[in-house]
Amino acid sequence: MFAALITGKGTVEMVEFADPTPAPKGVVVDISFCGICGTDIHAYQSGKPYHPAICGHEWAGVVSAKGAEVKSFTEGDRVIVATAPACGSCEACRAGQADRCQVAFLSMIGRDPLAPAHGGFAQRIPVAAARVVKTNTALTEQQAAMVEPTTVAFHAVRRSGIHLGDIAVVQGAGPIGLGTMQWVKAAGAGVVIVVEPNEQRRALAIELGAHYAVEPGEPADQLVKQLSHGLGADIVYECVGRPFAVQAAVDLARRGGSMCLIGLADQDAAITPGSWLIKEISVTSALAYMHEEFEMAMGMIADGRFRTEPMHSSTIGIDGLDAALSDLASGTSTQTKILVDPRL
Ligand SMILES: [Zn+2]
Ligand SMILES: [Zn+2]
Repeated sequence: MFAALITGKGTVEMVEFADPTPAPKGVVVDISFCGICGTDIHAYQSGKPYHPAICGHEWAGVVSAKGAEVKSFTEGDRVIVATAPACGSCEACRAGQADRCQVAFLSMIGRDPLAPAHGGFAQRIPVAAARVVKTNTALTEQQAAMVEPTTVAFHAVRRSGIHLGDIAVVQGAGPIGLGTMQWVKAAGAGVVIVVEPNEQRRALAIELGAHYAVEPGEPADQLVKQLSHGLGADIVYECVGRPFAVQAAVDLARRGGSMCLIGLADQDAAITPGSWLIKEISVTSALAYMHEEFEMAMGMIADGRFRTEPMHSSTIGIDGLDAALSDLASGTSTQTKILVDPRL
């Protein structure tokens, strides 16, 4: 069996692996779709060392084999990739900080003891059974493959402390920004403004329910002021993931407002501490998700409060991955979420 791995700057290699068998506490999942994440694009652009287990970490599929000790899944179950629940025995769990379980964290970054040697750009993947969650039966496989990035945004909005009626700004309308925008609406924001330079992405933000979508810089400043008696937004979500965007987010917030950092910049960001202090800005940050949040997010996709389909821009086979990453890394791509179907 071959899996596609990003092995260097602008390099995708098809690497051969033995057909997987499940560990005693593991399952093998036949992958139906695996989404391309911003993390994959960053790895392709930078060539920085990239853990192979997370090269393709947004997948859905069907359990094709299970280990002898696995009770909660059986062959034929539809599942999605998630993070493990708290283990109960690591340092953090024993200290009573189960929501900071170190084993769950390691599984999220592909470094748990049962982490596979490749990610989801493959026909099959062996993982710890604790890492998968049964797919909500109302979801299509394409929707199921988009639950992982959707849950990243879900977790961030749950942590952010948004209040009913807030004026909320979302910076960036990639898959994470568009997801955050939808959850912010579902959480009861009064007005949701998306700030995004790409016209096509602004149109998609409006289609998905944003009240306003505006270019960054002066147009965004003016609009936020106009909607907030000149004061600024109650809460700003940073989903661009570039260094300049951190201070830009705080600049759009009002005194006493909040900023939630979701986008992961891979370089240091310059900030103006004085403006943070003057505004007494509250900051939350979010990385990944909790096990319980996958079922919650799927339920809200199933009942239509969150729409994945408009963000799914195309489907390719594994052999199209190199070209797709090159397009996404160009900065001028018209794609939003590309799903890889290893059966093609
Ligand atoms: Zn990701
Ligand atoms: Zn633990």
